[in-house]
Amino acid sequence: MEFDQPLSVFCTVMAMNTTDFCYLVCSRCEKTLPNEYISCKYCDPKFFNPGSSISKRLYRILVSIAASEEVFVVVMFDRVARVLIGCSADDFFNFTMVNPSAAVTASKLLEGKMFQMKLSKPKMNGNAQHLRAISVTPLCSDFTPAIKTLKELYKDAISPSHQSSCSGHGNP
Ligand SMILES: [Zn+2]
Repeated sequence: MEFDQPLSVFCTVMAMNTTDFCYLVCSRCEKTLPNEYISCKYCDPKFFNPGSSISKRLYRILVSIAASEEVFVVVMFDRVARVLIGCSADDFFNFTMVNPSAAVTASKLLEGKMFQMKLSKPKMNGNAQHLRAISVTPLCSDFTPAIKTLKELYKDAISPSHQSSCSGHGNP
């Protein structure tokens, strides 16, 4: 696809990358951090509220979409990805820690869903190579963000009371 201005397309989601969908940033200035144990070198630790996390996660999801008989990969950053997932990257990350198959299930839930997306070209100076989705609008009026369905699907798995209720008493 060749264009200079942001391009508006109607497209179908084919899949999302489920292994690498977020990255870690400083919770104050949102600069990228190498890992959650290294604090931001730009922010003074005394500016963080006691007990609050020095880092947070933001989405950066690669999503395959089909539009005008082409399939290609776009990158979705936090604001846009939240439309599809329906919660913060931290919440989704924690959910996938408890339910390891949840990211793959999220991809399946989004598969075949139709959206209107605005796509912009990667910047020439960076190492970005994918088109970037700068806005996403679901085309069906009853679109449900993935996390809502996931919480339904996994509600037995994440309930601690469900697990403890059947321990320690042998067979009924
Ligand atoms: Zn910072």
